[in-house]
Amino acid sequence: MITAYLTHPNCSLHHMGPEHPESPQRLEAIRARLSLTGLLQQTMQADAIEAREETLARVHPARHLRALDKCLPTEGIITLDSDTMMNPNSLQAARVAAGAVVRGVDQVFKRQADNVFCAVRPPGHHAEASDAMGFCFYNNVAVGAAHARAKYGAKRIAILDFDVHQCNGTIDIFKNDPEILICSSFQYPFYPWRYLRSEWQNVVNTPLEVGTDSQEYRRVIERQWLPALHAFKPDLVMLSAGFDAHKDDPMGDICLEDEDFYWVTHLAMEIAALYAENRVVSVLEGGYNLKTLASGAEAHIKALLGLPFSDAS
Ligand SMILES: [Zn+2]
Repeated sequence: MITAYLTHPNCSLHHMGPEHPESPQRLEAIRARLSLTGLLQQTMQADAIEAREETLARVHPARHLRALDKCLPTEGIITLDSDTMMNPNSLQAARVAAGAVVRGVDQVFKRQADNVFCAVRPPGHHAEASDAMGFCFYNNVAVGAAHARAKYGAKRIAILDFDVHQCNGTIDIFKNDPEILICSSFQYPFYPWRYLRSEWQNVVNTPLEVGTDSQEYRRVIERQWLPALHAFKPDLVMLSAGFDAHKDDPMGDICLEDEDFYWVTHLAMEIAALYAENRVVSVLEGGYNLKTLASGAEAHIKALLGLPFSDAS
């Protein structure tokens, strides 16, 4: 497998204060771990390119994009909601984060890579069409999906989200869209406190009880996601890859381990092999324990590269 690793130095320019868990150190931790284990060198590394306004506007109304631009401070940090802040560089970072997914989609459809991991921040899956929230400004995975549809004629895009939080933003943007299938596993009840019920034909909501472990997680994913995916037959598989469902993550209370991230990545790849010519585009969402964020991402990349999990250090 050829796995592309997309990121950009500007992702680190965005910060929300020294105490905020969604920090530039997250990407440093992933890079350090992948570098140390030699996995980074096995990927095809490239820098993201900023998403253009018209690319973002496929999923976010232009007036909302302009409103966000106006919020951008010239100095210091401003607060959008109780946990989402902007510094002068926040949208620069957000544009390369979304742009990474766009470039990743280009790479898999042009067959430059089999699959792609976008190591970017700010994350995106809480960003609704007209609402920035939950550390997210632009919905990166949605921007990429809309690009795949507009540029490459993708007709059946599956978005699998295994972050501990539900992808309210992705659902808000694509609810009732028959060309998109969204499967989201998440701790319940929990943030984002909206869109948590399956009210749409194209959304498979998989709520998880506090304390859900590996065995129960795999059982429920196989039971709920696999039939939906086989029926849908995606021509592109996208992953909202959050690592905050790890048992040692401070944000959630789900008890997954690194091998579960490997497992769910592999499941996505099997679906992509059957229906999507292996095309998988994954984008980083949450993960706030730097150590398990890095080891979870390592397991994820290992699966994308087609390596066995057991080589994990
Ligand atoms: Zn999360």
